[in-house]
Amino acid sequence: MPVDFNNLEIAFAAKNDKALKKTHFVFSTMKSNALVKAGTTLTKLALKSGLPVKGIIKRTLFDIFCGGETIEECVRTAAQMQKFRVGAILDYSVEGEKTETGFDSTCAEVIRTIERAGKSDNMPFAAFKITGVGAFDLLAKIHAGKELTAEEQAAYKRVEERVARICAKAAEVDVPVLIDAEETWIQKPIDDLTIAMMEKYNQGRALVYYTFQMYCHSMLENLRQLHGLASEKGYVLGAKLVRGAYMEKERARSVDLHYTDPIQPDKASTDRDFNEGLVYCVSNVAEINLFAGSHNEASNLKLAELITEHGLNADDKRVSFGQLYGMSDNISYNLADAGYNVAKYVPYGPIKASMPYLFRRAEENTSVKGQSSRELTLIEREIARRKS
Ligand SMILES: Cc1cc2nc3c(=O)[nH]c(=O)nc-3n(C[C@H](O)[C@H](O)[C@H](O)COP(=O)(O)OP(=O)(O)OC[C@H]3O[C@@H](n4cnc5c(N)ncnc54)[C@H](O)[C@@H]3O)c2cc1C
Repeated sequence: MPVDFNNLEIAFAAKNDKALKKTHFVFSTMKSNALVKAGTTLTKLALKSGLPVKGIIKRTLFDIFCGGETIEECVRTAAQMQKFRVGAILDYSVEGEKTETGFDSTCAEVIRTIERAGKSDNMPFAAFKITGVGAFDLLAKIHAGKELTAEEQAAYKRVEERVARICAKAAEVDVPVLIDAEETWIQKPIDDLTIAMMEKYNQGRALVYYTFQMYCHSMLENLRQLHGLASEKGYVLGAKLVRGAYMEKERARSVDLHYTDPIQPDKASTDRDFNEGLVYCVSNVAEINLFAGSHNEASNLKLAELITEHGLNADDKRVSFGQLYGMSDNISYNLADAGYNVAKYVPYGPIKASMPYLFRRAEENTSVKGQSSRELTLIEREIARRKS
């Protein structure tokens, strides 16, 4: 086995006893589905009515899952991670912008993260969401093939320009950029924008990465097709593989609007396609650069094994592993310790604006979704190990 995710000493080396206890407190609170539901509602109310809950959020949820409120605060977080060879991907976590001014300011902030990464040796990637720089409804209209008004055409031109500016900066400072995938009903314009940027910049190596959500039953075929297109046009495919984060929403919408559910029938099918996607990318590593974003131990182990099987060095620049800050440190820190390329998304932004992200993390970590019990068991075992 090329790496052992159960080595807790390595997994939690970055956390002193106090930090470990705090993490334990937050994860054990999140384990209760009822508490998360009540907490989410109460926090929303408190924030709306101006009650002073920011301090408590900052010291708990925010501290565990976000790198800071500003880029400079994240630089300190990233320096801590670098001691253990874990890279940071600054992820501006403000969501739901709806105005042109908001899109421009998010675009400027993403460019600042890229500039910062360009000056650092511990920020190997940058990342952004297209809905941060363009209106969701506009993207949905384009996806649906509806005719745009003159005003909407002008708005979309501005989206294209923002994406072009971000990628041009990434090329200038040589920092690869991951374009996140979102809901399937806005995917068409995201495809067009990402493919155009890959064609422009991915000469010899991937600068721009397309995100493949392997929970869609069409995604392995899409991976093969985009690989074919890249080979035909002579550029390297940047492939970020994830399982996909919007399953419930996707299923509900397909039922409401009476179309075929785009999501795999069950978890086993998603797991199978994710792992097949890893095999496909590593088998074509001369033409595909891979970033695998996952907290699934079996998939991370599979990728480590594929690297060995294909005779690649653990730190081959063309293959990277990714997790989210505050989650699955047992995977990230053990992979990094074994010499693999690992980077964690480090979300940051003003506390209030980061709340949707934090609520999603809390919900994902309830006992219902199962993540927290693994994290919690590992933390409890590490606390016991340190005492013994
Ligand atoms: C670094 C990083 C970047 C990410 N970027 C994105 C992104 O750009 N876009 C995005 O959508 N997500 C993104 N994600 C989230 C990701 O898609 C997953 O939601 C999350 O990582 C959980 O999947 P997992 O691979 O960690 O493993 P697991 O916890 O083993 O798998 C859980 C996932 O399996 C799938 N699943 C669960 N039940 C079923 C079922 N009944 N039927 C079919 N499929 C099922 C779902 O996708 C679910 O999220 C990112 C994650 C990471 C770590």
